[in-house]
Amino acid sequence: MSGLRIAMFSEHASPLALLGGQDAGGQNVYVDEVSRGLARLGVAVDVFTRRDAPQLPPVVQMAPGVRVVHLRAGPERFIPKDDLWPLMPAFRDAALAFALANGGYDALHGNFWMSGWVATELREPLVAPVIQIFHAMGKTKQRHQGAADTSPAQRIAIELGVIQAADALIAQCPCERDELVDDYGADPDKVAIIPSAVNTQRFAPVPRDLARRRIGLPQDGLVIAYVGRMLSRKDPRNIVRALALLRTRWPEVPPPTLLLVGGETSAPDPAATPEIGALMRLGDELGMRSQMRFVGKQQPDALRDYYSAADVVVTTPWYEPFGLTPLEAMACGRPVIGSAVGGITYTIQDGATGYLVPPRDPKALAERLAYLLQRPALRRRMGEAARQRVAREFIWPTVAERSAALYERVIAQRARQTALHMASFTEFAEA
Ligand code: UDP
Repeated sequence: MSGLRIAMFSEHASPLALLGGQDAGGQNVYVDEVSRGLARLGVAVDVFTRRDAPQLPPVVQMAPGVRVVHLRAGPERFIPKDDLWPLMPAFRDAALAFALANGGYDALHGNFWMSGWVATELREPLVAPVIQIFHAMGKTKQRHQGAADTSPAQRIAIELGVIQAADALIAQCPCERDELVDDYGADPDKVAIIPSAVNTQRFAPVPRDLARRRIGLPQDGLVIAYVGRMLSRKDPRNIVRALALLRTRWPEVPPPTLLLVGGETSAPDPAATPEIGALMRLGDELGMRSQMRFVGKQQPDALRDYYSAADVVVTTPWYEPFGLTPLEAMACGRPVIGSAVGGITYTIQDGATGYLVPPRDPKALAERLAYLLQRPALRRRMGEAARQRVAREFIWPTVAERSAALYERVIAQRARQTALHMASFTEFAEA
């Protein structure tokens, strides 16, 4: 596989971005880790992302074998991803010009629907197959968010076109394959399941006392942590409601502190992050504010202390395409209570590494919290089972190996198609 040259398209999610804000989360981590992992296998990767600040150099050598190419497409400032679609033709043209000037690629890997469109647009001019991963699907978002969904009107039609045109589709878990096949009519033979993963050097258990000391939390008392982008669909408010129920219905459980990690800024700011404002108001309304501790966004190397300081980590989104944060918490040896949606049903083993609860159901969450918070030995057992599960099933080198194997298969298949096409063309010309 050494010698392959791959173009990785990720218009809004740069591997060089700070994480935790509105549009920087799992996709950035995926692009970062998969590109580095591929490079370690001898694959050269160019990551194409939009130039969203004037000071960015045109090309950055991110790691040996991985370059980040900042393409000019629209104003050189942050633009929310839902406003980027009109800039995609310019992004495509800039990518094509760079690719042609740099010797082309063996395969094109699209991320998200817009970069998927760019990759399929370049499939013919660059004579290279397209491998697409969506990270999130428009139909699912619309189903859950309804009128609050700010995606461009064309999103679903473009997704359908990309699914038809791509040579292979990556699903991160069986539920994502079902979305592709059942909601979008994807050819099941085109779908490969490659679960995303965790960097287990970065996310590893830290003794609870040490973690708490490092982040300035008292040694005694129970702690629950939420880590993630502060969005209403991630529903951190559900956790606050559950804590309020815990206090009234399970008074025997000492009131836990809720750590809330994430937001637009590193100092938590309700003006910059509306969800933090909503959480503060809800906390006031339910009399829970003194138990809530807002942390703001933190960069990955600091996160292991936040996960490890917790007795239980909770994430109860309305929906979740895959969800890296539950896996990161598991890698830190902590039990996770997550909602039984999307990829979370695949990563958390209910009753073994944590619990699954229905989304938007604070009572179900409170019940599980009450049970687990009163059982330190069970928490330890589940945390250790979680850590082992991640080490066994969810590490990035495996993702890179499977991705490289998929590229090779698809490249060979495209070469066969091209040869057949050429043969029939020659026959036709000779007849
Ligand atoms: N993250 C981070 N700092 C924060 C909040 C989140 O680095 O303050 C990271 C988190 O560790 C995870 C990613 O952002 O790797 C979120 O990915 P996930 O798949 O859980 O959700 P997404 O953001 O893609 O919806």
